[in-house]
Amino acid sequence: MAPFLTDWRRKWTGSALAVVQPDTPQDVAAVLHWCHQQRVAIVPQGGNTGLSGGATPPAEGRSIVLSTARLNRIRAVDPLGLTMTVEAGVTLQQVQDAAREVDRLFPLSLAAEGSCTIGGNLATNAGGVQVLRYGNARELCLGLEVVTAAGELWNGLRTLRKDNTGYDLRDLFIGSEGTLGLITAAVLKLFPLPAAQLAAFVAVPSPDAALQLLSLAQQRLGPSLTAFELISETCLQLVERHVPAARRPLADPSPWYVLLELSSTTDAADAAQAIERLLEGAMEAGHATDAAISTSLQQFRSLWALREDISESQGAEGPTIKHDIALPIGRIPAFIESTSAALQRQFPALRLVVFGHLGDGNLHFNLSPPPSGMAAAAFVAQEAAVNRLVHDAVHDAEGSISAEHGLGVLRRDEAARYKSALELRLMTSLKHAFDPLNLMNPGKLLAPGRDQPMEIPLP
Ligand code: FAD
Repeated sequence: MAPFLTDWRRKWTGSALAVVQPDTPQDVAAVLHWCHQQRVAIVPQGGNTGLSGGATPPAEGRSIVLSTARLNRIRAVDPLGLTMTVEAGVTLQQVQDAAREVDRLFPLSLAAEGSCTIGGNLATNAGGVQVLRYGNARELCLGLEVVTAAGELWNGLRTLRKDNTGYDLRDLFIGSEGTLGLITAAVLKLFPLPAAQLAAFVAVPSPDAALQLLSLAQQRLGPSLTAFELISETCLQLVERHVPAARRPLADPSPWYVLLELSSTTDAADAAQAIERLLEGAMEAGHATDAAISTSLQQFRSLWALREDISESQGAEGPTIKHDIALPIGRIPAFIESTSAALQRQFPALRLVVFGHLGDGNLHFNLSPPPSGMAAAAFVAQEAAVNRLVHDAVHDAEGSISAEHGLGVLRRDEAARYKSALELRLMTSLKHAFDPLNLMNPGKLLAPGRDQPMEIPLP
């Protein structure tokens, strides 16, 4: 059972009565029905790559882990209707591959795609690198099949683009982190496969210049702009140090870089011309100082690897303090400047590791120990105070303290600090309506106490 009881970052370890792996939605319903009768809690688990502790059972060991690993069938692919119906345990990469086999694109893309599952992606409303163009998991889902806390199977596998027939149950289950029901299958949206994709690694003098470049790119490239990532020089240095194959794409260092991606429906030559014209304009205006454009698939992948290897490289450097925050896009440069200065004043030894999906207003505003080293215990002891400083600044800037990783147990109590009493009451009412006995992933997303069972006697 061990692999199911510890999360991917090895931050949380729990205990469980059993790990259950049903292989049909009907069997999931039977398990949840039995759990309902016996008052046994359920912790849904997909690929166990979540970063907020949502898929790890609590320590008291009175719940079961329901793993979706055997719900692994692709039920239907419709290239004309641009939909695919898959079971919850299919990995994101398998979905991408199945779409590509019929010349279509499933655009959700994140570094854990080889292991994370569609059920987990939807339960956390995952984001990734192409949200700018295609939206997050919620926007890529048309319908769901869900087993309720009482063990009933709801067939909401609609393939409709329009359906205004009342409360949107699909949207309530998406992002609910397994606290309202267990997703067993989903209808996903597909897109035409781009004819060519190019990446450019661009040196920019500041986050403000990066934002000006974003605006220019949106204006010039329109929907062909499919990703826009911000990377600091510190991040690039970490990747250089820990990934032997990594190569700097530009001769001179710059305080900040942008990795942008263009997807073209015509051909690579057209795309290259569009990107060159954009970069000329950006350099003339002083928004960029240098750039490298991919000219082969291999170069495209190496540029992306520089971005995707940041998390692992930061981890290889020692313990980390991570913040997955969202901000109104226009406020990002001022936020980076003022919050970095405040951290520098209060925690001068710590090193900022900032990168993220600038096009979506989503930053990974992380910290590492100084290059000279620091005892792990001394670093970790500062985490609560650092979090408070960063999250208060996010709140003041009208942002969110969890952009794409969900609340789980990691951000559950922090989120409650910033939400209004009314919002919390409405969320609690939903939880009680869907799961009156509090059996679905109790203690996740909503704090114990808020998610308490209603007074329903045992049968
Ligand atoms: P799990 O970790 O198993 O579960 C996550 C949550 O969903 C838990 O609360 C669990 O109870 C619930 N759950 C799982 N399956 C179901 C189901 N069938 N029904 C109901 N509830 C369910 N996230 C991003 O958004 N963007 C990124 O760029 C990104 N990059 C990442 C990079 C790495 C290297 C890693 C390790 C993670 C990254 N993540 C990212 C985190 C991301 O949330 C997860 O990778 C993924 O969405 C979770 O899928 P999973 O199948 O592993 O879910």
